[in-house]
Amino acid sequence: MKQSMEIITDAEWEIMRVVWALGETTSSEIIDVLENKMDWKPSTVKTLLSRLVTKHYLETRKEGKQFIYYALVKEEIAVNGAQKELFDKICHRKIGGLLIQAMTDHDLSQADIEIMESILAKKKKTAPEEVPCNCLKGQCRCQG
Ligand SMILES: [Zn+2]
Repeated sequence: MKQSMEIITDAEWEIMRVVWALGETTSSEIIDVLENKMDWKPSTVKTLLSRLVTKHYLETRKEGKQFIYYALVKEEIAVNGAQKELFDKICHRKIGGLLIQAMTDHDLSQADIEIMESILAKKKKTAPEEVPCNCLKGQCRCQG
């Protein structure tokens, strides 16, 4: 297993969502699921599938005339990786604002809110007045 996961494109992500949902699937099943959402030719889906195999997100085996595809990367791991990828690109001082925006924009369940409240209550006890900037000088405006 590699240290850091390869980044996948938005198109590849669409494919992975189908594979995660179905467990095992074929290119024609993927085309069926995505036909109304994406205007893809079968050759496009096959290209995306082979890229995902190269990136070790998918594995394939042949059954009769069909290729069966299944995930090598779990959905939770990929989602966490994508979140970390984004957060690593921005100043740590901006993460709070991003979380506030995400909370404002999305529906949250009662259970989610309870967990968040308890995490926040715990963090509040030791939170700094200001989050330290982690940027390279010249890559953000935090440092004069
Ligand atoms: Zn900064």
